[in-house]
Amino acid sequence: MRQKIQRFMIGRYGADQFGQLLMGISVVLLFVSLLTRLDIFYILALGCMGYEYYRMMSRQIERRYQENQKFMNWRLHFITKCKKKKEHFSQRKIYHFYKCPSCRQKVRVPRGKGKICITCPKCRTEFIKKS
Ligand SMILES: [Zn+2]
Repeated sequence: MRQKIQRFMIGRYGADQFGQLLMGISVVLLFVSLLTRLDIFYILALGCMGYEYYRMMSRQIERRYQENQKFMNWRLHFITKCKKKKEHFSQRKIYHFYKCPSCRQKVRVPRGKGKICITCPKCRTEFIKKS
């Protein structure tokens, strides 16, 4: 039986990180559908699971790999953003964070200095804020 499965999976994509996420989402959705007894969550869970099995069985390995790479990039971006937010939150009593009005660059300035003129380090735009 094990050999049969192995032979069946030759040339197919298999599991990856994006697939693990899809499986996790479908488990959560199944749990939510049990709690709420709403069919929509059940259908969504089946959809996620179906998509994941389709990906695992897929022979278009390059395309599935690209999907996973996109997901991994998004995940990295998300984790970096979360870390930055956490860092800003821990510094909130010492620093103020402002966005440059022209290029949206985040600028950190010390608190308690009154009205100050901030020069954006990226585009050199000056703007006045209370620190
Ligand atoms: Zn700027």
